[in-house]
Amino acid sequence: MTDCLFCRIARGELPATILYEDDQAVAFEDIRPQAPVHVLVIPRKHLTNLLAVGPEDEALVGHLLRVASQIARDKGVAESGFRVTVNINRDAGQSVDHLHFHLLGGRRLGWPPG
Ligand code: 5GP
Ligand code: ZN
Repeated sequence: MTDCLFCRIARGELPATILYEDDQAVAFEDIRPQAPVHVLVIPRKHLTNLLAVGPEDEALVGHLLRVASQIARDKGVAESGFRVTVNINRDAGQSVDHLHFHLLGGRRLGWPPG
């Protein structure tokens, strides 16, 4: 049992606007949205970031990506376009040490990211 922020959201101990959950994954609205659609998709399993993903987690990561694309469809941005991003460590600005995929959409997204 960890007291990590996203573990606590996944366990329902902290409030969040949950869009989807199952036994492996939870998706919720980002508290500081950077686009009209900004959703975080996380595993229930505590993994610090992508570097902590092992061979036993490959199906889990695939599942998280499928959840992200289903939410993009549900939010109506599948056709217009969206981005799935994962930040890892300091230079990428990772601020929460629990693996999360950002789903961003609903506006034109610059490339490359800043
Ligand atoms: P990172 O910077 O680690 O890639 O992304 C962390 C994200 O989590 C940020 O976009 C931030 O706004 C979001 N965030 C941080 N704390 C909370 C929280 O308590 N609830 C929710 N829903 N999002 C959070
Ligand atoms: Zn965690």
